[in-house]
Amino acid sequence: MHRNRRAKIVATVGPASSDPAVLKALYLAGVDTFRMNFSHGSRENHAAVHASIRALEIEMGRPIGILQDLQGPKIRVGTIKDGRITVQAGEKIRFVLHGADGDRDAIPLPHPEIFAAIAPRQDLLIDDGRVRVRVQGVGDDFIDAEVVIGGVISNRKGVNLPGTILDLSPLTAKDREDLEFGLSLGVDWVALSFVQRASDVIEARGIIGDRAGIMSKIEKPSALEHIEDIVRMSDAVMVARGDLGVEIPHEEVPGRQKELVRACRLAAKPVIVATQMLESMVNAPTPTRAEASDVATAIYDGADAVMLSAESATGSYPVEAVTMMDRIISATERHKLYRSFISASALDPEQSPPHAVAAAGAGLAETIGAKAIVGYTSSGTTVARIARQRPALPIVALTPNLAVARRASLMWGVHSVPSQDVTTYEEMVATARKALVDENFGGPGDLAVVVAGIPFAQSGTTNNLRVFSLGGSAR
Ligand code: PGA
Ligand code: MN
Repeated sequence: MHRNRRAKIVATVGPASSDPAVLKALYLAGVDTFRMNFSHGSRENHAAVHASIRALEIEMGRPIGILQDLQGPKIRVGTIKDGRITVQAGEKIRFVLHGADGDRDAIPLPHPEIFAAIAPRQDLLIDDGRVRVRVQGVGDDFIDAEVVIGGVISNRKGVNLPGTILDLSPLTAKDREDLEFGLSLGVDWVALSFVQRASDVIEARGIIGDRAGIMSKIEKPSALEHIEDIVRMSDAVMVARGDLGVEIPHEEVPGRQKELVRACRLAAKPVIVATQMLESMVNAPTPTRAEASDVATAIYDGADAVMLSAESATGSYPVEAVTMMDRIISATERHKLYRSFISASALDPEQSPPHAVAAAGAGLAETIGAKAIVGYTSSGTTVARIARQRPALPIVALTPNLAVARRASLMWGVHSVPSQDVTTYEEMVATARKALVDENFGGPGDLAVVVAGIPFAQSGTTNNLRVFSLGGSAR
């Protein structure tokens, strides 16, 4: 079985979807990678979900990706007297480093890094930007501010500091424990929240090594400033529009999305567009026209994947949301203008031999009307280089590494097939032929192309192209 769509669907698992029967329904409706959000839920819960997905993988006979999303250094106010206060524009308030159950002159903000980094005239945004205050004075353990946009501040609400680079590791103590736990389960991807610079990714790499792919969530202005280095150090990227849209003005998010998708495609790294894609489907069985258009835009941009958050985690219509996303992606990819949008963002010819070989393979496969292009890959890079070309035919990731097969399920156009280790070139071609026939990509008389790196055991080489037939007439 293979799906007839190129862009992928990531769905967040939560109370609305952690039941094995719902997970199966979500998979059948189109989910390629499941996201476990470690901002919520117990370890026990995540372990059960992980086990259910691995069981589903065996039942379906298809590799399925699992993404562990770490909470990261999300800053929150502490507790407030009576749980909440209402503040008005123009009012003066004070945040304090220590204390609890404070009032407007002592709102606890138990994050010392903020007091060290913040300066007058910078803004603090509270509760996803609903309340905005401007800093007027900073002491060792207090911040005086004036309310710019009034509203309610209640216990433990999130705080964003768009203009400030904080001396924070993207891995809190909780993240480190969650990470060890996730790696022990065997997650395929780890997403780092609030990445600010490339060294954040390097720090995580020191712990993760090659046990999982590292996905950097772009949701801070400082990440945008260092985007090239961050993309280079990461294995994938998420356009995390929820927090990004708090940290930068709304009107800048769409352009940034386009920039990020393009930068990732250039670097052959998968990119997910995330958050509020079908938000109204949390409570309704159909999306708004604007939401349908938002999903389609990400597809026309050439994103590898689009993501559901609350829609599948806590909403009333998780399966309907996946079905709707699948329909929007498929219809967009069938639209007569789709190819012209995708090729409009075609890349300049790449001079490095591995990229040039992958690009030639994609071009060759299109020219001869091949039914598929196979990347035989031990690390996934060969197939990422093919996907980067966004060819107009299916890409098959043939790999002896199950973890790579699972990870590749996130990549644009890629259908993963785990294989046995092969030792000779002819054995590799025979394995590719069998995989394409078994998975219904073609039959006797059809042609295919395989791209590989030789020697097989050495990852990163992509230096070989071969046309072969799927049987029948010898060609
Ligand atoms: P979150 O990340 O859902 O973990 O906050 C995604 C986003 O901010 O868009
Ligand atoms: Mn976020």
